[in-house]
Amino acid sequence: MINKIAVIGAGTMGHGIAQVAAMAEYHVALYDIKQELIDRGIASIQANLAKGVEKGKVAPEVMDTALNRIKGTVDLSTAAHQAQLVIEAIPEKLELKAELFGKLEGLCDAGCIFASNTSSLSIEKIAAATSRGDRVIGMHFFNPVHIMKLLEIVVAPSTSEATLAAVREVGGRLGKDCIVVKDFPGFATSRLGVCLGLEAIRMVEQGVASAEDIDKAMTLGYAHPMGPLKLTDLVGLDVRLNIADYLHKELNSEVFKAPELMRSMVREGKLGKKSGQGFYKWD
Ligand code: NAD
Repeated sequence: MINKIAVIGAGTMGHGIAQVAAMAEYHVALYDIKQELIDRGIASIQANLAKGVEKGKVAPEVMDTALNRIKGTVDLSTAAHQAQLVIEAIPEKLELKAELFGKLEGLCDAGCIFASNTSSLSIEKIAAATSRGDRVIGMHFFNPVHIMKLLEIVVAPSTSEATLAAVREVGGRLGKDCIVVKDFPGFATSRLGVCLGLEAIRMVEQGVASAEDIDKAMTLGYAHPMGPLKLTDLVGLDVRLNIADYLHKELNSEVFKAPELMRSMVREGKLGKKSGQGFYKWD
């Protein structure tokens, strides 16, 4: 029975995962490497919940109890203590994730499930950093976590049926609609989504149309709820660049070759919504 979830990384995804877990009445430990990052994550959760209360979608008492259930910490062993499920949402680098789970191996109970929110990386390779391959799985949430309904569950060859069942149950309690996907680079979502995003950036680079008009082509012409460039801004250009580089290498396909414009924007700190500037200007 899962009662406590440790969320590692309090950034765009981590704070959202912590929020939905606390709203579903799990006890949540939220870990990051610096206190100010945890504070920022908790402030974002507070702002999301306050907006929910304002719109009448969240009861004021739910906001208070959810916030009380989240304990921020910069101590990994405190986060891991008595957690039955760890969900990591740290940067999309295999070596970082492997190192983290290697450390957690010695800090968590033997039965604890290790889940990665990776957008593209191999769950099998992440699992290899631990000695609990049967309890390692992908839990791929979408941004913003408290709004997006999908949970893409990624199953590696070593993942047990019991782990899949436990994670499906958590997904249901978080109010998510789950799909189960094989451990293959980019899974079902990122492989298609990033492909569209990269092609849209190449079109901006080639001067085919403005970012606004390319997005409008997809929203009005193809009924996508959001254009691929706005979505890239929302996800973060740095996050998508990491995914593109990984898929380019793993799938050996030029479709995933990152455009130079994307690299230069990341170098200049134009990361999208989180930095205030991407293909659009954000408040
Ligand atoms: P982010 O940059 O917003 O947040 C990452 C957080 O991890 C930061 O707060 C950072 O301080 C922290 N961190 C870095 N190294 C750490 C370590 N060793 N231990 C603990 N914390 C560490 O990134 P994000 O957008 O939240 O992405 C996190 C993961 O979620 C990535 O794997 C990404 O591919 C995936 N993802 C992102 C999105 C999205 O829309 N941004 C959607 C789905 C999945």
